Amino acid sequence: MKLQEVNTVDELLKLVRSLKSNGLRIGFVPTMGFLHQGHMSLVQAAQQECDIVIASIYVNPTQFNDPKDFNNYPKDIERDKSLLDLNSCDYVFIPSQHEIESLPIENVDLEGLDEVMEGRFRPGHFRGVVEVVYRLFTACEPDVAFFGEKDFQQLMVIQKMVDALSLPIKIVGVPIVRELNGLAMSSRNVRLSTEGRAKAKVIFETLKGYPAVQRAEAKQKLSDAGFELEYFEVHRFRDSQRLFIAGFLEGVRLIDNIELVD
Ligand code: AMP
Repeated sequence: MKLQEVNTVDELLKLVRSLKSNGLRIGFVPTMGFLHQGHMSLVQAAQQECDIVIASIYVNPTQFNDPKDFNNYPKDIERDKSLLDLNSCDYVFIPSQHEIESLPIENVDLEGLDEVMEGRFRPGHFRGVVEVVYRLFTACEPDVAFFGEKDFQQLMVIQKMVDALSLPIKIVGVPIVRELNGLAMSSRNVRLSTEGRAKAKVIFETLKGYPAVQRAEAKQKLSDAGFELEYFEVHRFRDSQRLFIAGFLEGVRLIDNIELVD
């Protein structure tokens, strides 16, 4: 079946409820567009576990603390739709700002998870994420929703929201997809120069090198490559420990993380 586009909440809810009444399991992949293989791995994971896959494309202004970052966020809807079609995604939901704002929001106590790392450096970011993902869940009523481990803290935030609100949605985390040199794929990578993309491999090298290469030396290596570090932190989530790195290269904000095995 060719990819079908849906633009309104009414249409999407009608569609999803009818599919579910036929016993079909709905997998949902929310994105901000300018899609790449990282997003496609979420679509593929959804296909493994569900009968129908719905992706969404919506760039949410409320999760950007920097208006320049929002305005510079890359867009190519036609290319996105071709890529989704090529990867046999069934539906893409592309709502207008008005459609999104017609949906309710919920307040969730993130119990401090929104105060560290991304939350510390991007005030209000997770409030925006919770707001929009809750709205998209309301519009799509999925059985399962898929999120990348690239945004691991976001994945934890979404799981917390689902638990706090007792939403009947299973959250699945999907491993990070990387460029050949190890740079985590990101829509923002196109804003790097060719040289910057090559230099950005230092982030994954640093993640892989830790703790054999200790914090001070690792930070120096990042700085030598032109990476302006925001944070370099280890956190435990449930049963695993991860090292998280975030910062700027050529003015482009990049984040990455790795599981630390004892
Ligand atoms: P975004 O469009 O950046 O909001 O990302 C949409 C979803 O794709 C989020 O759940 C991201 O974590 C996930 N994602 C983005 N890049 C990657 C990647 N390189 N590998 C795996 N998942 C990713």
